[in-house]
Amino acid sequence: MKTVTVPFFISHQGCPHTCVFCDQRAISGADGILPTPGEIRSRITLWRSTAGGRPLEAAFFGGTFTALPEEIQSSLLEPLQPLLASGMLDAVRISTRPDYLDAARVRWLSHRGVRTIELGVQSMDDGVLAASGRGHTSGDSLRAIRCIKEEGLKAGAQLMPGLPGDSPALSLYSLEQVISSGADFLRIYPTVVLRGTALAERYAAGEFVPLSLERGISLCAQLLQRAMKAGIPVIRIGLQADAGLDADAMLAGCWHPALGQLVRSRLYADLIKRVVPFGSGATLYCHPARLSDVIGMGRSTVLALAGSGGDIPVLADAALALEELNVKTEISCVTYSIIKDLNYSIHEV
Ligand code: SF4
Repeated sequence: MKTVTVPFFISHQGCPHTCVFCDQRAISGADGILPTPGEIRSRITLWRSTAGGRPLEAAFFGGTFTALPEEIQSSLLEPLQPLLASGMLDAVRISTRPDYLDAARVRWLSHRGVRTIELGVQSMDDGVLAASGRGHTSGDSLRAIRCIKEEGLKAGAQLMPGLPGDSPALSLYSLEQVISSGADFLRIYPTVVLRGTALAERYAAGEFVPLSLERGISLCAQLLQRAMKAGIPVIRIGLQADAGLDADAMLAGCWHPALGQLVRSRLYADLIKRVVPFGSGATLYCHPARLSDVIGMGRSTVLALAGSGGDIPVLADAALALEELNVKTEISCVTYSIIKDLNYSIHEV
């Protein structure tokens, strides 16, 4: 049963750093005020009433949870304890920096109901981390993931392709490193230049060239496929569109409100280009949940194929796996997979 997440944005609270790309107020849409115990309790009670029997998880996003003074961390977690004890709430999730976590802190969090810790890893290349003002190293990320796993909690890793000094090969390297470190899931946030950040100044001075939307989609498709091959879920691609992250805040970079769909569509479009015979009159079948990805935004994939060989119908078949595509022609019926039947070279980005 899918878990319902009750989000609490704690914005820039607790973070003593200023990464070159960061404007937490714009990213979280929050103004930096911490929720009160009463607000925490009432929001969870409200969400419990609409979640049915699904598991409920309170999540503190943004900022650096474990850099907050311990009394503030306690003031956020203590109101949850009776809710956890009564079964109204099932788990707690926090996000933090890799260098603000050790075994003792993970245990402290675990004893207070935290079951998932997301880390802002961003890159596993120390040159990229330094050029981005992160203030931690790849070794800090490896240590933090190990501490989380040793306590039996879930570790999430956030990656940011396209940071200063990054390249497609280094982005792939970062992904491989977090996969082999044992991360349970990933978020991929291609770098966006936000107004008012140090990165915006570098961009204006011509010192930083961000990923374009097209190159970002192409790179993220390859990262997603690699994660799928490793069996690691990518739970989000691209920053969430909300009131605080509007077009005015974004100066440049790879961003689209439906970036995840564009990236999945790219995988299917690349597979179709490689396996659907030109002018074959094929019919395509995919899992119902993947219809819009296969057809493409604005029917882009289907229209592109129509231009080169006639209209291609796309139909749903619930017997297929999410990653499969069945291609039927008058003389053949073959099932392909975006995991097994696409072989990218990172140089194609
Ligand atoms: S560590 Fe996180 S919250 Fe702090 S400045 Fe960097 S990106 Fe922003």
